[in-house]
Amino acid sequence: MEKFHTMTLGAQFIGGAEVATLENRLQAELQVAHAVSCANGTDALQLALRAVGVGEGDVVLVPNVTFWATFEAVVNVGAKPVTVDADLSDGGVCFDAFAQAIRESRPKAALVAHLYGWGTARLLELRALCRDQGVVLVEDGAQSFGARYQGEPIYKGAYISTTSFYPAKVLGAAGDGGAVFTDDAELADKVRRLGNHGRTAHYGYGDVGWNSRLDSLQAAFLNLALDHIDARIASRREAVAFYQKHLPATGIQLMNAPAGYEENGYCNVCLVPDAALKASLEARLKAEGIGFGNIYPSVMSSQPGAAAYIKGHFGGQIGEQLCASVLNLPLFPYMTEAEQLRVVDVVGSVLGGGNVR
Ligand SMILES: *Cc1c(COP(=O)(O)O)cnc(C)c1O
Repeated sequence: MEKFHTMTLGAQFIGGAEVATLENRLQAELQVAHAVSCANGTDALQLALRAVGVGEGDVVLVPNVTFWATFEAVVNVGAKPVTVDADLSDGGVCFDAFAQAIRESRPKAALVAHLYGWGTARLLELRALCRDQGVVLVEDGAQSFGARYQGEPIYKGAYISTTSFYPAKVLGAAGDGGAVFTDDAELADKVRRLGNHGRTAHYGYGDVGWNSRLDSLQAAFLNLALDHIDARIASRREAVAFYQKHLPATGIQLMNAPAGYEENGYCNVCLVPDAALKASLEARLKAEGIGFGNIYPSVMSSQPGAAAYIKGHFGGQIGEQLCASVLNLPLFPYMTEAEQLRVVDVVGSVLGGGNVR
């Protein structure tokens, strides 16, 4: 019988035992020396950037295909975002464009996002390149909790990485939450200080930070959720395996995790490059009452909000191609085989692959 978490909230509303327990469990689970909780995943990115010394006028590389928060975080710390094109094979950044951006834009830091529940095929090369070039690599792991690379948690070995506990993420709270991970004790201290008003004593301030603390209630919920996370991720992975087995017969193009990864089953990723076909498939799914997503429908550089800040772009327009064709079929913990079969049947009937049963 497993030992389940017992809540110890008392009259603690911010921080306290539940937060300390959560941070310890995250450290063990993700094999990182320090986990510092914070208010949300966007703050986690901003705390990481501030802690590594990114500020006014620094150039920071950011993937052109990611969630807006990755881009926003760079701007919010006063830095200049330079976008890097995507790689159509794994949804990560294009390695060559990334390397060129490092050579030509001399960034202080670079962000990558492990978007689809796995990381880029060339993760270790990316880390090594940044290390060799003196560029701080910040890994946005908001969607990669549970993802493993070469048998180990993807967060392990990152210089500094982040996650989000937004309820729809793989490990979700009952509200907002986030965390920063690093093996560097000094960096972890800096993150913690910045997220607590730059505090060095109760009324002593060594930095100008802000309030980005995690609620005790969210930590308690997350501690309860952690008891079930392995089972939930296992069921997500079973759903991934089902799609991998049955979707190819429909003719749809499936994007899978690169070699060496065990994905967390955060989302399904299909590519439907034919716009008309994609529209009719989406219309049919909608008519059948089957939810779907488009993570993400447009690149950072084409967002109206980016125009005033963007400092440059490296690579081509693969990101645009990816965004225009991405279709995410339903994938969630404890999805039944019958539910998945129905999705596969509907896809097959639109694409002409026919009934798979
Ligand atoms: C969700 C998410 C964030 C932001 O997290 P919040 O907790 O919503 O602030 C950042 N980056 C990526 C890739 C995300 O998916």
